[in-house]
Amino acid sequence: MINETHDPALKSWVESANSPDTEFPIQNLPLGVFRRRGTNDMPAIGVAIGNQILDLRSTGSLGLLEESGAPLADATAASTLNGLMALGHAEMSRLRRLLVTILRADGRRAEPRSLVAMDQAEMLLPAAIGDYTDFYASVFHATHVGELFRPQNPLLPNYKYVPIAYHGRCSSIVPSGTPIRRPSGQIKGQESTPSFRLSERLDYELEIGFFIGEGNKLVEPLTVDQSEDRIFGLCLVNDWSARDIQVWESQPLGPFLAKNFATTISPWVVTYEALAPFRCPASKRPPGDPAPLSYLSSPGNETQGGFDVVAEVWLRSGAMRQTGAAPVRLSRGSLRDMYWTLAQMLAHHTSNGCNLRAGDLLASGTISGSSRGSEGCLLEMTRGGAEPIVLPTGETRAFLADDDEVTLRAFCERTGHARIGFGDCTGIVRPSTFDD
Ligand code: CA
Repeated sequence: MINETHDPALKSWVESANSPDTEFPIQNLPLGVFRRRGTNDMPAIGVAIGNQILDLRSTGSLGLLEESGAPLADATAASTLNGLMALGHAEMSRLRRLLVTILRADGRRAEPRSLVAMDQAEMLLPAAIGDYTDFYASVFHATHVGELFRPQNPLLPNYKYVPIAYHGRCSSIVPSGTPIRRPSGQIKGQESTPSFRLSERLDYELEIGFFIGEGNKLVEPLTVDQSEDRIFGLCLVNDWSARDIQVWESQPLGPFLAKNFATTISPWVVTYEALAPFRCPASKRPPGDPAPLSYLSSPGNETQGGFDVVAEVWLRSGAMRQTGAAPVRLSRGSLRDMYWTLAQMLAHHTSNGCNLRAGDLLASGTISGSSRGSEGCLLEMTRGGAEPIVLPTGETRAFLADDDEVTLRAFCERTGHARIGFGDCTGIVRPSTFDD
């Protein structure tokens, strides 16, 4: 799993990739889709390296990817990652090795026109996402939210057996940087009947998403171990949520319009192989919890099924931006603390024969830990709005205000390995009348 492409001593001829604070050293090489800013160029697949993007279509046309063979060469020339995703881990591993030979300090340098500065690029959605499923895999989040609504019985009895999820919506998934308009909906407060009005309880949810690589056929479930091989790579997901709409609409069938007005994802997909040095055991269940049913367990999953990805939420209000104040960190949690691993979620999703396809997006659910400061949404952090947080400007927030900028970040860090980051997942809340 860990090979010479993870060597922490590797350097790139792209100088910014060797900076100690870069999120994109040569050991990372996440994939995304971009076009040159201000043009109508056909979108191209790129690789993040330092503060630059290596354009794979132009790299291929220069012959630098010629050893990759036809399917890989065709897939790298496309305008979405779906073709690459469908090729599977072995082919992605070949691409990673080729990219290292092109980008390493003593390697085959690409021509200048193959490199685009990140600040000259517009990042697009990385894949044509066919289906999107949102899980609920943090037992801490599920318990804390449950306590707000059912203090005597916060965690429902199915939670420790079933990786809970709902089917989300793809059409409103947007790349980082897209403005988020405050939604309106049916809301019922203390009054006896609901009315249709602007949401006053707009929230974010800090999540990690994972894209499906090779899919499975209809009626062919995947084991947990097979599911490992179908994880293409990870990104950040902000599952924007209108809590006042949610609380009124979501019984008995679950979230609907409270969630599907927008979902922001980070544009770079950190590949499965780049994450190899940061694997960890599945989180340990407390004594007395049931063991996962056999279709959700394997020895490999138990010892190496986790991903040690630290994820954070940063907030900057409109007033903070005006005064040049830096964003403030609201929370920090880790994907390693989730009750279910990504492979368990994937295996569960296919366990009834449901087919997943290359480019489908599955998300972890809100990443929260057990302690204060690790709550991955405001609903949980402010105890349903009862304990507002205070910003450096003295402003308070129970939920998001217009012009608030929410940025999700994630990184992996381990002694003896290069630190890698995910890049920002940002959205600014705008009034419903906002016109971009
Ligand atoms: Ca969610």
